[in-house]
This record gives sequence, C-alpha cells and structure tokens, in this order.
Amino acid sequence: MTTFRAPKGTFDLLPPDSAAFLAVREAMARTVRLAGYQYAETPVFEDTALFKRGVGESTDIVNKEMYTFTSQGGDSLTLRPEGTASVLRAALQANLHKAGQLPVKLYYSGSYFRYEKPQKGRYRHFSQVGAEALGSEDPQVDAELIILAVDAFRGLGLTNVKLLLNSLGDATCRPVYRAALQEFLRGLDLDEATRARIEINPLRVLDDKRPEVRAQLAGAPMIGDYLCEDCKAFHAEVRELLTDAGVAFEDDPNLVRGLDYYTRTTFEFVHDGLGSQSAVGGGGRYDGLSELLGGPALPSVGWALGVDRTVLAMEAEGVLEKETSRVEVFAVPLGEQARRLLFGVVRDLRRLGVSADIVFGTRGVKGAMKAADRSGARYALVAGERDLADNLVQLKDLASGEQIPVALDQIIPTIKEKLS
Ligand code: ATP
Ligand code: MG
Repeated sequence: MTTFRAPKGTFDLLPPDSAAFLAVREAMARTVRLAGYQYAETPVFEDTALFKRGVGESTDIVNKEMYTFTSQGGDSLTLRPEGTASVLRAALQANLHKAGQLPVKLYYSGSYFRYEKPQKGRYRHFSQVGAEALGSEDPQVDAELIILAVDAFRGLGLTNVKLLLNSLGDATCRPVYRAALQEFLRGLDLDEATRARIEINPLRVLDDKRPEVRAQLAGAPMIGDYLCEDCKAFHAEVRELLTDAGVAFEDDPNLVRGLDYYTRTTFEFVHDGLGSQSAVGGGGRYDGLSELLGGPALPSVGWALGVDRTVLAMEAEGVLEKETSRVEVFAVPLGEQARRLLFGVVRDLRRLGVSADIVFGTRGVKGAMKAADRSGARYALVAGERDLADNLVQLKDLASGEQIPVALDQIIPTIKEKLS
C-alpha cells in the first residue's frame, strides 16, 4: 500500500502543536485590531499579472518562487506569494479608499506560497499575518505599524526581536541615488546575473548575501547620504516616534527588502535564534504601488509577520506554551444508564461555555480513566450503576486525586463554581 506524505516544503499543523500556532496568529491579529485594523480576506490565487506588476518583475518572488498555473478556462493564475498586492487590489476594487476616512486600515491572516528551497523556517506553504494602512502619508502611520508589530512580538513573550530600519527615499531622491549606486556597482568584479541586476534593480545587489559580493560592497554609496529634505524629515519623525515609544532600532543602510514597490520607510524584524532564516517580519511604505496597479495615488505602508518563524523564535526563547489541556471536564460513564445521563450533562456544560468531553463507546474503567487523564481535564465526572441508584456522580479532581460525591441536580452548579 502506498502512503501519501505532505508535499515537499510543507508541513501539517496538528495537535498538540497547532494550538500554539493558532494562538500566535490570533495574538498578532488582536494587536492590530486594537488600533482599528479590520479583517480582510482575499482569494488564495490572483491574476498572475497582479503579482508580476505589484511585486516586481525583477524580484526573486516573481522570477523563481511563484506557483503559476493555467486554469481550465485558460487564465494564468498564481497562488499568492504575499499579501500586499492582493489587499490593495481588493481595496481599490471595492473603492474603500473613497468610502470613508483615510487611511483604510486592514489586516489579514492566512497561507502564502513560494517555490523556495525548503529549510528550517523556509517553506513552500507558510503563514503570515499582515497589516496595511492605505492612503496616508503621515509618518505617524509608519510608526504606528512598527510599534504594533513590536507590541505583538513582546506580547508573545519574545525579547530578542531586533528592528532594522532604513529609508529608501522617494521619486525625487531615489533616482539620483540609484544612478550613483549603478556607477559604483559597474566598477566591481561581478558575475553576469548580478551585472544584469545592476541595470534592472541595483538596490537589490546591496541585499546580496554572498561573501565575495559583500566584500566588494564596502565602499558603496549609502541611501542615507542621498535622501532629499522631505525624506530626511519624514525619516527623522518616524525615528523620533519610535524612540518616544521605547522601541529600539538599528539603522541598516543595506536594508532594501525583496520587493520593488517600497519607498521611504523600510524595516525588518530579525531574531537571532533562527539561523539564516532570521527575518520574522518586515514591511515598509509603498507610496507608488496603487498607481502601478492602475489606481489613484494612495500612499500606504504595511508589514507582514511570518507566523511559522515567530513560532520557531518562541521555541528558541523557550516561551512557546504547549497546549496540555483539551477540555476542562471529562465524563467517564460506567454502564449504559450512566452513558445516557452523562452525555446530557456534557451537552449542557458545553451549552454553558464549559469545555467538556466524554468517553465514547464501551470501555473498561481503566481505559476510560486513562482517556480522562490524557485529555488534560481538571475534573472527571465518574458515574456507575451504584452512584446512579443513589442519585449521585463522583467528581474527581484529576490533579489531586480527590473525589467527592455530587447530587445529580448539583453537578452543573458545582462544576461551574469550581471552575470560576
Ligand atoms: P527572506 O529574506 O527570509 O526570504 P522575505 O523578505 O522573502 O524573507 P517577506 O516577503 O518580507 O519575506 O515576508 C514577510 C515574512 O514572512 C518574513 O519576514 C518571514 O518571516 C516570512 N516568510 C517569508 N517567506 C517565507 C517562507 N518561505 N517560509 C516561511 N516564512 C516565510
Ligand atoms: Mg524570500
């Protein structure tokens, strides 16, 4: 018999680990909801052209990592490799930017797909929580988003997340810098592919991780020296707001990020417990993306946090809580009459918001008690023929082993009181 396995570069989320994963995702979402970000969900696939244009033809994502397929109807579709282009597309399509006050603040949470070389922390199917503020040029929005991400990581108990910060300039100063950088790079000893990249997207060369390239980049012109007055003031304001918020950051002039559409503020969150896949999140301002997608001018900023890597970072710091308890109450009926009675008790407990489960089928006492223990429940409700004849059930505290008889009509109030 053949057995199937999850595709290469993917993994399944199953209990008991799945609970922590879900909790991380929810904690991130909760943090941005506190700031008025509202949930957005877009299709898992989009027109291929959206990502080609919105992520950029010269990026690794578009060139090497997309899952692109032709539908039965002949359309070229791509599994989403990131969230920003889709969310902006959706907001523009629904005219959210015309509906009310700007910025439109949206968050999302879900699966993303990139054809990558699988390694720890780098998967072909992974999970992100993202937040985007569409339609504001206020540096307070950049600061708000960065602070929220920091708060999310802190809220999860992480203490070793480092914030790297840079500004990429805007349409005024970026081209001047770009030309200066190109001139510098053309003078280096680089392979053909990298030379080609100098002409298409020279900033990306700064991101090259190979030591032989890194060594030559030492004297490269820095964007910080080229920022125009507006960009300088903007960046200074973001930095000040972060400092006021008690958020530490490190300037990283080489932080250009993988995507073409970033302007001004760019940032990345890195964790040192993850080996080479150290980025747990990243984002930045993308003032030009809306127009690139055929929309109006809509200066925006956003980030995406990697849920999988955040979970790994929490494991590395020893702050990941494993779920040990499935339910609070576990019923162990001994005999047919008890089965019927406790089935009803469990049903009523659930209706009152108390999590409860019951042993199904007919099992011996030993097996049934083992199931109760394994559920992680705080209390077992045990009832046999003799208890029922006396109108009783036994309520057992599974941690202490202490057992007390409880009258049938007192079961629910007693449990509710003990759990409160
Ligand atoms: P990297 O430099 O590690 O490739 P990236 O710049 O491609 O990251 P982004 O596009 O900024 O990543 O995505 C935001 C976050 O999503 C990353 O910081 C990371 O935590 C997570 N992420 C990106 N790609 C993957 C992947 N293949 N597997 C798991 N998590 C990922
Ligand atoms: Mg990548």
